[in-house]
Formats: sequence, structure tokens, C-alpha cells
Amino acid sequence: MIIDIHGHYTTAPKALEAWRQAQIAALNDPASRPRAAALKISDDEIRESIETNQLAKMKQRGSDLTVFSPRASFMAHHIGDFEVSSTWAAICNELCFRVAQLFPDHFIPAAMLPQSPGVDPASCIPELVKCVESFGNVAINLNPDPSGGHWTSPPLTDRHWYPIYEKMVEYDIPAMVHVSTSCNACFHTTGAHYINADTTAVMQLIQGDLFKDFPTLRFVVPHGGGAAPYHWGRYRGLAQELKKPLLSEHLLQNVFFDTCVYHQPGIDLLSTVIPVHNILFASEMIGAVRGIDPETGHYYDDTKRYIDASTILSAADKQAIFEANARRVYPRLDAALKAKGI
Ligand SMILES: [Zn+2]
Repeated sequence: MIIDIHGHYTTAPKALEAWRQAQIAALNDPASRPRAAALKISDDEIRESIETNQLAKMKQRGSDLTVFSPRASFMAHHIGDFEVSSTWAAICNELCFRVAQLFPDHFIPAAMLPQSPGVDPASCIPELVKCVESFGNVAINLNPDPSGGHWTSPPLTDRHWYPIYEKMVEYDIPAMVHVSTSCNACFHTTGAHYINADTTAVMQLIQGDLFKDFPTLRFVVPHGGGAAPYHWGRYRGLAQELKKPLLSEHLLQNVFFDTCVYHQPGIDLLSTVIPVHNILFASEMIGAVRGIDPETGHYYDDTKRYIDASTILSAADKQAIFEANARRVYPRLDAALKAKGI
């Protein structure tokens, strides 16, 4: 079985975006904000949006199941207040839940949180609880920078975030550290802000001692870990100077990297530097880079090809990356599969 742990509902029916635009247009006039119930999207519209997009590509490429979360760049936690984020997150999470209900063999949901700059992350707990307990979500996406590129929140190791971590430990769910759109013109959203955030998260976790407080807490750093694997020597050296344990103990018991790296040399580097145990298959399809690589004739984000073609990874390594590691890092995903006899 091939599990893609990183997919977003980037192809949701247009009514979703129209609803969000109406919500944004009424930011300064709460009374005229649209109600969640005003959004009407039928099951057939959802089916069509998935069958012709993500599911078609999964079948072409040979992946079976995607951990599916709301469109990351649309989370836009910096827009409006907590109430705005809360209504928006509830809508987006319900849509992903409906996708998973309509295609239970191919999608399992992960939740976005109703984060808002300057608001206590504990405010996200009710949505998290609902998504896990009622919607069967197997993970969350945690935005380390709800300000959208201005980095006004404390580092991930700060007690500020502990209410979320306590709930993650209780539910035994991982968080993908995933920013949203950049509203800082210096940072292109997917080309800079995403990769910066991945790298920043790794360094924050090296600087702190978070996993002393939460030994079972697990983070997935997407997009191949940003620049971290490429600069692994720098990070090992910095950890040494900071008198931290080896990264194999200090970081890699709790931090995992996905394979959203869109060329063979990048995947080869990732799988040379980072232990196979810490690498999870993902494509982020349909997402950041949608074109075809003229050098290969294949989609950049068809990351399964790079794993298949790897001469560094053994067959057992590939099985771990495609399935076993996901089952270990996402125990609720594993339990859901086992409940179906898979
Ligand atoms: Zn993503």
C-alpha cells in the first residue's frame, strides 16, 4: 500500500472561495458576515472535484491513500479575528471529512486549526477535538506563523504552544508544521515562506528541549524538511555548539520529513542524509508545483517516481517510506486501516 501523507483540497468547488471572499469582504462588519450554512456544496460537486483531480492522479501514479487536509495557502490565519478563523476552519475541515466519507478507501482527513495571530492556541482545542473524535482526523496541520510571514508568535518550543501539544499527545496524533499564505511581499508563499518555515521549525526544535517535556510528540516537517537535510552538517554542528545531544537523539525520535521534493537529486540527498525511519512518502499533489518537468517529461510533483527510481534505497526502505513509517507516525491512520482489515 502506498500512503501519501500530504495532500490538500486545492480543488474544492468554487463556491468555497466565493464564501471566503464574502467573509473577507465583511471583516469590519461582523453582522454581515456570511453564515457557515450559507455555503452549499453538494456531494456530486465534491465527487467531481476529487475524481477528476487528485484521485485521477493517484490512480495514474499508483498511490492508494492520501492524508487530506484543507488547502494550506487558504488557511490564511492572519485574516480577521479568531471568530473568522474558527468559522473558516470548521467549514474547510468539514469538506475534507466529506471527501473522506465519499472516498473512504482513498482519503483520510487531517485538520487545519482556527489559529489567529495573538490568540492563545488553546482556543483551537474544541475544533481539534471535534475533528479527531467526530471526523476521524488522524493528524493536524500546525501553523508556526499565523501572522503570514511576519513571525509574531513565539518559537514552537515555547510554552505558548503546549495546550496543542498536550492534546496531540493525548490523541497520539502528529502535527505537520505547515504555514499558510505569505502576506509579506519578501516571501513567495510556496517558494520561500514554506521552505523558510520548514527550516525555521527544525532550528527551533534544535535550540529547544521540547521533547524532554513531550517525549512522544511527533512533528512532520514537510517539503522534504526545507533546507535542513541539505545543510545537515550545519545543524549537527550547531547542535554540538549548543551542547545538545546528537540529532539522532535530540530530534529524530520525534521529527519526520516528507518527500515533497520535486527532483531526483533532492530525493537522493534526503534519503542519503536522513534515516529511512524518518522519511514519509508525500507529494502535496495537487499543490505548489503543477507543471511537467521538461527534463523528465513527468510532473514535478510525481514524487513516487523518484522513490521508485532511487538506487540508494532498498526495497525494504521503499516499503518503509511508502507505508510502514506512515502507519507508525500516524497511529490513528494505522488503526483505521486495521479496522478495515488492511
Ligand atoms: Zn502542504
